[in-house]
Amino acid sequence: MVNRPEIRLGVALGLALLSAHARPLHAQPSVSATAARTAARVYREQHEGAILTEFAALLSLPNVASDSVNIRRNADHLIGMLKARSFTSTRLLIVPGGPPAVYGELMQPGATKTLVLYAHYDGQPVDASQWTTPPFSPVLRTKEVHLGGAVIPIPVGNGRVDGEARIYGRGAGDDKGSIQAILSALDAMRASQLASSVNIKVFFEGEEEAGSGHLEQILTTYADQLRGDAWLFCDGPVHQSGRQQLSFGQRGSAGFELTLFGPTRALHSGHYGNWAPNPAMMIATLLDSMRDDDGRIRIAGYYDDVKPVTAAEHRAVAQLPKYDSTLRTALGLSRTEAGNALLAERIMLPALNVRGIRVGGVRETGSNTIATEAYASIDLRLVPGQTPARVRRLVEAHIRAQGFWITHDSVTVAMRLAHLKVARVEWGSGYPASRAPMDGPFGKAVIAALTEGVSQPLVLNPTVGASGPTYMFEQILKVPMISLPIANYDDNQHAADENLRVQNLWDGIELYAALLTSIGRTWRGPLP
Ligand SMILES: [Zn+2]
Repeated sequence: MVNRPEIRLGVALGLALLSAHARPLHAQPSVSATAARTAARVYREQHEGAILTEFAALLSLPNVASDSVNIRRNADHLIGMLKARSFTSTRLLIVPGGPPAVYGELMQPGATKTLVLYAHYDGQPVDASQWTTPPFSPVLRTKEVHLGGAVIPIPVGNGRVDGEARIYGRGAGDDKGSIQAILSALDAMRASQLASSVNIKVFFEGEEEAGSGHLEQILTTYADQLRGDAWLFCDGPVHQSGRQQLSFGQRGSAGFELTLFGPTRALHSGHYGNWAPNPAMMIATLLDSMRDDDGRIRIAGYYDDVKPVTAAEHRAVAQLPKYDSTLRTALGLSRTEAGNALLAERIMLPALNVRGIRVGGVRETGSNTIATEAYASIDLRLVPGQTPARVRRLVEAHIRAQGFWITHDSVTVAMRLAHLKVARVEWGSGYPASRAPMDGPFGKAVIAALTEGVSQPLVLNPTVGASGPTYMFEQILKVPMISLPIANYDDNQHAADENLRVQNLWDGIELYAALLTSIGRTWRGPLP
């Protein structure tokens, strides 16, 4: 589809429009976020076709992280898009064996703060047979494809596009849409003579969907370039209600596989029950000793290094959309833990979850035997202050305190004979949590810039429940990071027919224009 003549023509027109705006801006007295939103809207309404044409060209480049040739084409293309906006120091940040990250900066004379914008240009692998139209041949549809949305041409030049239209292609929602919104916002600001209130750096990662295996090395190697006062993680969908959401943190994670041992061969439970130790009961007792019915972890010292939840975080949770009881009903739960405490409160606390238990057989495989081994798989979610290393020490100390001798390797009969109780503990990789302060100067400035002139209140999440790489920015670069998503929640990210609702792109352009134009007005102080 990208070879359709109207797209080729549109690319040329789009780039011509961009370069027309690519002249240096004089510092302007900063304007309000509301004025910047209005200016961005007016600009966008005059350039909808050109913006979508440029976006379609980016989406037409296959972007699976393992496809190094096409990943490089994406990276080079992005460098071109940055240069068209007068970014300086544009370059690829490369470490051995990994896809490049794309970097550029836009320094603003007189600005005292530097904001780094993160997005990723790679996407999840695709199974083209599952897509209605090929994943790297972007198309615009009048509405969602499963609701009968018909393919329509991307208008040339200043043709208009309805906000309910959707653009389909891998990366549309996750996460090339954020890149397009940022760059189109800069075009709108330049066209309206609105200066950024901060220095801007962009960092576009090329292997987020493949697990960010080289991110730590890139951040360490290029720490000087990447220095800034704070980062925005521009990725993910907005709240299901359609409201703009900010998330200040992600949970950390650690996990282990636990094995306990009974007799070396399965025993008849009639002949040997009450005599041979039963690993099924041992593992039930041990797990019960780790966590109470309300989720409080009973391991000694476990909460000692947990940073307390702040008053600002409790306040934010109290203002989140109320959906716990709807969720309980939908899930068939008459109650949830800790007296129906709010989900958003619960994910700010450390958690110990049992992923699974396996011992003996049940139902059709049930038999009157005492099993030889019992297995459990445990997932620990960490919160700020905790480290995977200390959590490992505390968990093992707890298991020892229950009378077990611990090994991390294979277990021999000699070991079983030498100790009253033996536990094998095998740890997976782990990483810490991150959570930017909601009432710190950066958090307050982001909230102020995005609240002004907006009727819908922001959804402010102290943390999301899932774990992710944001801790690396906090730990390696020592700066706070806040997540600012723009995609529609029903964007089919990671799946077939990934799309971006056009209105979310339009809103994103206004949002970035408002943020960049006004955040410097309230962002003060040396602290995060
Ligand atoms: Zn993403």
